[in-house]
Amino acid sequence: MKRKEYFGQFGGAFVPEPLKKVLEEVAENFYRYIEDQDFIDELMYYHKQFTGRPNPLYYAEKLTQKLGGAKIYLKREDLNHTGAHKINNTIGQVLLAKRMGKKRVIAETGAGQHGVATATVCTMFGMEYVIYMGEIDTHRQALNVFRMKLLGATVVAVEAGRRTLKDAVDAALGDFVENAKNTYYLLGSAVGPHPYPLMVREFQSIIGVEAKEQIIEQEGRLPDYLVACVGGGSNAIGLFHPFYKEEQVNIVGVEPAGKGLDTPHHAASITLGKPGVIHGFKCLTLQDDNDNPLPVHSIAAGLNYPGVGPEHSFYKESGRAEYTTVTDQEALDAFVDLSQVEGIIPALESSHAIAYVMQLAPTLSKEQIIIVNLSGRGDKDIEQVKEMLKL
Ligand SMILES: *Cc1c(COP(=O)(O)O)cnc(C)c1O
Repeated sequence: MKRKEYFGQFGGAFVPEPLKKVLEEVAENFYRYIEDQDFIDELMYYHKQFTGRPNPLYYAEKLTQKLGGAKIYLKREDLNHTGAHKINNTIGQVLLAKRMGKKRVIAETGAGQHGVATATVCTMFGMEYVIYMGEIDTHRQALNVFRMKLLGATVVAVEAGRRTLKDAVDAALGDFVENAKNTYYLLGSAVGPHPYPLMVREFQSIIGVEAKEQIIEQEGRLPDYLVACVGGGSNAIGLFHPFYKEEQVNIVGVEPAGKGLDTPHHAASITLGKPGVIHGFKCLTLQDDNDNPLPVHSIAAGLNYPGVGPEHSFYKESGRAEYTTVTDQEALDAFVDLSQVEGIIPALESSHAIAYVMQLAPTLSKEQIIIVNLSGRGDKDIEQVKEMLKL
């Protein structure tokens, strides 16, 4: 694997010196173990036996027929243990932490999904661990807080600042610097300072590696389109990266347009953002004139982030991928449609990708192939959607 701190102008590690040292230790160990056959074998063992990989690349025949265009395949990350792609990354990083001799893991979480995936693997590997969460988020995501506690987590409600994700990140980074000797910081998306974007991409690339093998087995050729939703960008880059060099494959990332791009209530960091530094790395980001992150909104809590991974920022700038947006309402409609057409309830995040595929497929011929990443299942969203729908 190529060492890479920057993707074009994006990436880097814009952090104070003490933190830089700690991150360098993580990077060196990551570079070492990602090439180590024992480490890879152990990772693959848990992917298979704990997560349930490989998951299917499922031909969505009903949806394809209904739309009357390209063949649609769903990469079924929703079938993973804990119900989403996030566990691919948390297993990888907790194994790395173990190899580094760390006994304690910390993580931050906004919507709670990464907190649950972290709690799951830390419990399984017998690690001591603490999850930082903004105090306001602990109320908004009370069910996930309960899940984490049930798994044995210590959840710290951060009272500083606006009491949301950014403050949880700051608290986790402070803990990391202070306790670096025995502590590992487990970051949840392809964002943050180097080496996290590269590392999370590598651990999530299992999605694209499997999808490539599976589509060749089932169709005898590569797909014409890859589609995935983009929050921080980890499920999308995990699907996209293994196809990067296959130039005939079109790549589309779908961002949340929330209540509309002409309102302040969206989280379309690539579509409307500008280059800037957020949380210690450079990317396309939604900031005010004083470089403070803007408040963002999406119906899908997991897409609610005012920045995006540096590799996506580079894909956008270089033109390798296209990025588009889907509104809350379109995502909600797709949530219902996939449930009723295929018998699969998608996460609200994944519903953004599905919504775009429902626009795209009818414009393509029946010979063409789309792979869409079903990043997670919708069970976590049922209560929220129930409030909004009168079925
Ligand atoms: C967290 C989450 C996302 C968004 O995160 P990425 O890093 O952009 O993948 C998407 N889908 C699901 C189901 C999630 O839980």
